[in-house]
Amino acid sequence: SDNPDLTAKRQPEDIDAALRPKTLDEFIGQESARGNLRVFIEAARSRKEALDHVLFFGPPGLGKTTLAQIVAKEMGVGFRSTSGPVIAKSGDLAALLTNLEEGDVLFIDEIHRLNPVVEEILYPAMEDRALDIMIGEGPSARSVRIDLPAFTLVGATTRQGLLTTPLRDRFGIPVRLNFYNHDELELVVRRAAKLLALDIAPDGAQEIARRARGTPRVAGRLLRRVRDFANVAKDSMVTAKSADAALTRLEIDALGLDAMDRRYLHMIADIYKGGPVGVETLAAGLSEPRDTIEEVIEPYLIQLGLIARTARGRALNDRGWKHLGMAPPADKAV
Ligand code: ADP
Repeated sequence: SDNPDLTAKRQPEDIDAALRPKTLDEFIGQESARGNLRVFIEAARSRKEALDHVLFFGPPGLGKTTLAQIVAKEMGVGFRSTSGPVIAKSGDLAALLTNLEEGDVLFIDEIHRLNPVVEEILYPAMEDRALDIMIGEGPSARSVRIDLPAFTLVGATTRQGLLTTPLRDRFGIPVRLNFYNHDELELVVRRAAKLLALDIAPDGAQEIARRARGTPRVAGRLLRRVRDFANVAKDSMVTAKSADAALTRLEIDALGLDAMDRRYLHMIADIYKGGPVGVETLAAGLSEPRDTIEEVIEPYLIQLGLIARTARGRALNDRGWKHLGMAPPADKAV
């Protein structure tokens, strides 16, 4: 692209970039988010202003980065990308900001992981398009204000609640992304198959869509693995049967849960008799960071109604027991 990343990003599989929709029309699903963005973009363009700052929040792989790029493209402006943990010092952010051109989109992925000192630089930058920097030291130190070009900050985070209130309040356009339904994911799979020049029967696309955890990134990844099995088996077309065989070998079950999801469910069922059990305890037992549990694993299990987050911890629901093929202990039976 002609707007190279200024910093390394957490490595998305390369193919992610190849599969990215480039316009709001090409982007599948998220109807209300897309409809609203279209209005705000058109209004900003007609006023010849930069778009207000946008915050995308929702589980990984739902299209936050993709939408950030689309916003820049639809606004007809440049796109700069970085991520919260990469910006170590306030000087790094100051350099990024002062290099922006009029109207540019600055995308900060994982914006909740900004260092607090760096985050403070963002407040005047977002609000007044200004940078306050200190010159000199000791009694002669003084603060100098530098004007910035009009720009749009697009932040992405897995959960809106992870942001500090002052940062959250400075985004005029907060946008929640939701899990995709099977029909939407089927379109995602068919579109990706076309880009990969892979023949796929409608029932093959449906099978992958059903097992993609409500997530386009997962749909793309499963499709590529299914393609590997098809290539080796010399199948010219992916069908429901061949997709199912491949996904079963990958240990993706009928609900689309993977081995990690099942380890999580089994830990609650087998060790804690269905819970409630605290997230820290689960994190320790599974040797996974708490963030991964809360941001990657749990949202989809909650969406499916397999578990509940209660004040006393995580608990398995009836559906969760059923999915494991187990009965709740007698004292837990509803
Ligand atoms: P996030 O930033 O939320 O983690 P990405 O924007 O990186 O997610 O999207 C992950 C992958 O899923 C990319 O390959 C992207 O092309 C694909 N994708 C996401 N949303 C859609 C969509 N609505 N339609 C088609 N592909 C999508």
